[in-house]
Amino acid sequence: MVVYCRYCQEVTPHRVKGTRVQLNVCDRCDATNLLITLVKSNGEMHYGKQVRFVEWESKELGSRYKQIHDEPQVGFSVIVDPQYLQFTWLTTPIVEIEDDKIDVGIRCISFKTENSSYKLYISIDREEALKNMVRKDEESGLYQTDKDG
Ligand SMILES: [Zn+2]
Repeated sequence: MVVYCRYCQEVTPHRVKGTRVQLNVCDRCDATNLLITLVKSNGEMHYGKQVRFVEWESKELGSRYKQIHDEPQVGFSVIVDPQYLQFTWLTTPIVEIEDDKIDVGIRCISFKTENSSYKLYISIDREEALKNMVRKDEESGLYQTDKDG
């Protein structure tokens, strides 16, 4: 698996450590990293397990959100770790998506907001693997939902 390492400051191979709580550890420096890293051009970094894109009702600052999306688009804000709209980091709306490429195991999106530019790293192997695990559990009935009760 490859993940953006906050210490190496580049995409490096990682291994999974631990059984109950799984951590992603950099093969080079042994740092633990999360699957999503948002790097601001001034070097500021934000990490998370999930990323989504927020569409706003209007262009005015402080307007209400309209919808949460899985894919980025001009006008959307990037939200790291959205949980009931409490979040660790929210950018101002994207004004330009400069680059969006998938290398082996990782997606890198370069974009500009009005005030800054960012690079967003999303480890995809692992996210896909996790999704598949949940799906498998659901299929095998291991995953209990409200419907069952
Ligand atoms: Zn590292």
